Amino acid sequence: MQSFMHTPLTLQSKLPSVGTTIFTVMSALAAEYKAINLGQGFPDFPMSGELTDLVSKAMRDGFNQYVHGNGYLPLREAIAGKVQYLYGTELSADSQITITPGGTYALFTAFATLLQPGDEVIVFEPAYDCYIPQIELMGAKAVTINLVFPDYRINWEAVKEAIHERTRAIVINTPHNPTGAVWSAADMKQLEDIVQNTQIAIISDEVYEHLIFDGLPHESILKYPALRERAFACFSFGKVYHCTGWKMGYCIAPADLMSEFRKIHQFNVFTCDTPKQVALAEFLKDRQQYTGLGAFLQQKRDYFQQLMAQTRFRPLPSHGSYFQLYAYEAISGEPEKDFAVRVTKEAGVATIPVSAFYRQPVDNGVLRFCFAKKEETLEAAVERLKGM
Ligand code: PMP
Ligand code: GLN
Repeated sequence: MQSFMHTPLTLQSKLPSVGTTIFTVMSALAAEYKAINLGQGFPDFPMSGELTDLVSKAMRDGFNQYVHGNGYLPLREAIAGKVQYLYGTELSADSQITITPGGTYALFTAFATLLQPGDEVIVFEPAYDCYIPQIELMGAKAVTINLVFPDYRINWEAVKEAIHERTRAIVINTPHNPTGAVWSAADMKQLEDIVQNTQIAIISDEVYEHLIFDGLPHESILKYPALRERAFACFSFGKVYHCTGWKMGYCIAPADLMSEFRKIHQFNVFTCDTPKQVALAEFLKDRQQYTGLGAFLQQKRDYFQQLMAQTRFRPLPSHGSYFQLYAYEAISGEPEKDFAVRVTKEAGVATIPVSAFYRQPVDNGVLRFCFAKKEETLEAAVERLKGM
């Protein structure tokens, strides 16, 4: 019998410095210690039964085969209608909107469409965790600029200094994960001034577009003609309809950019889940489902803040998203990651250390709490945190 030498396959990692995401790590720790999970951002309350019924109906009605690779046309038309209603911008459902399996995929494809090796992309930190690995996978380089603690505003002078001939894109995210900071019209004007007459594109992560509080308007890139002509705007239905596990989203871009985006999309996923697209096309007609979302979550934020006033954690402002930051200098001087692990193990509440959203080590002694939870979940978590 012939014997073979055992030669294990080796490969060169494309992401050598990347490990498991902090969301997965903290959710696993929460499960291990039976902690209440205010870490990873997902609601623990049910999504709309009407929407799940619409999916079942679509399946029963025979919508179980591929739809067009760009997405089910009535869904794209419904999105165009929503954008017109909210931001006064007319879009072509045919050439400017593509349905994607979630916001992460929309971002990935936008970077893949745009970036060449050696390009630079400006990313504000703390930053949602997928941006930098996605940029680096394209052979491009992320140039990070820190948001100014404690209100996490943009240092526009630093942005101007960071820009040079290799700068290909700027990533923006409002409302912001993890801080809950929100861009103003003045920020958009600054951005407009900086990118005019350049070849700099904008990747606009707007997955929290409706999760905005205190009467603030959402400054969508789609409201600004000089910006949207150079932007890929990325959205997620997971956050709008309380179904993060559905992984449904979309990307909006000018027709010429979108046609390149679709070349990549067609050979990656080709098309997305049909019954969910059919259901979403119908459900989007009910505007109250998304216009009421800010008030619904603001109530949760306020209730959580009210409960947390009984603890030694100090709130930082949150004007949007699922998240509220708390500083813990009154409790401990430990680094954020150590403290987050200890709170999970000792108090039984999982959170996310904000330092995980930085590539350069920055530790302000702040944890991120997800308040998109049932009242009883928030009450039980705060009861446990009182002991810290
Ligand atoms: N961007 C931000 C800021 C997020 O918080 C998330 C996660 N919800 C996403 C993008 C990704 O969205 P999705 O789950 O639809 O991929
Ligand atoms: N967006 C969610 C958060 O920020 C997590 C999504 C994920 O686990 N990748 O918590």
